[in-house]
Amino acid sequence: MGDEKVATGLGRVVLVVEDEGAIRELIHFHLARAGFSVAEAADGLEALAAWQSARPDLVVLDLMLPEMDGLAVCRAIRRQAMTPILMLTAKGDEADRVSGLDLGADDYMVKPFSPKELVARVRALLRRTAPTDELLRIGALVLDRPAQRVTVAGEAVTLTLTEFSLLRCLIEHPGRVLSRRFLLQEVWGYDFFGDSRTVDVHIHHLREKIGERSDVLIETVRGAGYRLVGEER
Ligand code: CA
Repeated sequence: MGDEKVATGLGRVVLVVEDEGAIRELIHFHLARAGFSVAEAADGLEALAAWQSARPDLVVLDLMLPEMDGLAVCRAIRRQAMTPILMLTAKGDEADRVSGLDLGADDYMVKPFSPKELVARVRALLRRTAPTDELLRIGALVLDRPAQRVTVAGEAVTLTLTEFSLLRCLIEHPGRVLSRRFLLQEVWGYDFFGDSRTVDVHIHHLREKIGERSDVLIETVRGAGYRLVGEER
């Protein structure tokens, strides 16, 4: 993923979520002309379905949407991936901008905006969020963040998105004890009110999938949480 690809937009998929057809088409037109592949959604629920199927490299997300608003869409995406999100807001309302950024949007633009500036922001955001270290390794375990793939000793391990996010969180903090509360927030999101046994169940599944075959262990630290241990390479 070099800068050239980003500069031309080739091969990059952008999901445009906007309920106003004219604006959606305008954005689509300018992104397509810049070389991006474009997927569209007209409301929040459609946005999540399109995000699952198109696996976009970036999401342009309107704040005010029918069915499910932009903030809820943003939270739902953030629970599963770090896909860069450019928020659009009609109001220029400070509180909306702040909460959008708090919830994990990477940038925002206030309507009306120039389509050329939007394309420039999309490019800048893709450059800024390009992973510098795509592969995380510990012991025989390799986690490929952009591809969302995990291998143990070269063999692919099939994980659910939640298991992947949980493992990514553990491997991003090797050797550190992570509390169930921290893991709930990082993996399930700030508004998740489930109990911490949810974490235990998913840890159990992860251990079954990676534990048997590898020199990497997910340790239970009594009264504290979990820790990933293995030889850093
Ligand atoms: Ca709207």
